[in-house]
Amino acid sequence: MGETEKDKVIEQIKERPIRMAICYDFDKTLSPDDMQAFTLIPSLEMDKSTFWTQSNDLAKENLMDNNLAWMYQLITLSKAKRKSIKREYFNEVGQSVPLYKGVVEWFERVNQYAAKKGIEVEHYIISSGLKEIIEGSKIAGEFKRIYASSYLYSPDGIAEWPAQAINYTNKTQYIFRIAKGIFKEYDERVNDSMQDEQLYIPYENFVYIGDSATDIPCMRLVKSKGGYSIGVYDPEKNQRKKVYQLFADGRLSFYTAADYSARSELMQYMKTIIDEVAAKERIKTEQKVLKINADLYKMASQMETLLTQFPGAIPAKEKKVIDKEIAEMKELLDGKVD
Ligand SMILES: [Mg+2]
Repeated sequence: MGETEKDKVIEQIKERPIRMAICYDFDKTLSPDDMQAFTLIPSLEMDKSTFWTQSNDLAKENLMDNNLAWMYQLITLSKAKRKSIKREYFNEVGQSVPLYKGVVEWFERVNQYAAKKGIEVEHYIISSGLKEIIEGSKIAGEFKRIYASSYLYSPDGIAEWPAQAINYTNKTQYIFRIAKGIFKEYDERVNDSMQDEQLYIPYENFVYIGDSATDIPCMRLVKSKGGYSIGVYDPEKNQRKKVYQLFADGRLSFYTAADYSARSELMQYMKTIIDEVAAKERIKTEQKVLKINADLYKMASQMETLLTQFPGAIPAKEKKVIDKEIAEMKELLDGKVD
């Protein structure tokens, strides 16, 4: 490494992209109810409580995953009503899914605040709800990726079979996918081990926002790895039992109302988190730069030790080359070492 090369390495360290991931549950986190409840279930002439009771019973009676149960139930019901469901219909349903206050403007506001601190924020959905419905919502374009349950469609476009069914435990795999930058749902390299240094987004730069017990594995994972988890409750219902429990059990970094507007507590917490991530990243940057001199010194002294420990073992010609390398390394060091 020459002097200019060293400068280049330092510059690269200082200019390295600093990313943060904010992962959101969808139902009751960004939207006040289950996404199926607003128009989808009523359009099949059923009320939502009957639908969920039936699908939960189906799951219990058959020892089924709850998500596979509602996905099955939805198809069965639509066939019984002779209203086969196409992807476009789910998208249409998504357009009318209501969102909590301030959600629409939240992403841009957070991105701008973070950009001022030199951080790029990427937003991700990790939901057990239906991907096709979320894709129809007006905030769909804000997410780098939407991880959610989805259907396999027949050649004539009718929902037939679950393509992905996301439940509370397999939700966590998407945190690993995002951290490692291995985004595709089928890509098994997600299980390959990766040094922290090589992560696409380090775990301590993750925020997970959710509302209920089904978010616990993700909240725990993110928090235990140094990231932040936020529990939200409906601002109007103001029912805080779940967040109190989650916080008392150590699952949450913060809890607050699901109010995403500019002056909300949630925005204040997010700014505090961004500030902390920015400060931690500045420390990491400084340490990476300090490591260059320390590593050069370590390498030079290891080579010197080698030469003194085995004086006869290295031919004179090679010794000359090594001596030169040691001298070059020392030359690159700032300050004195001899
Ligand atoms: Mg939820």
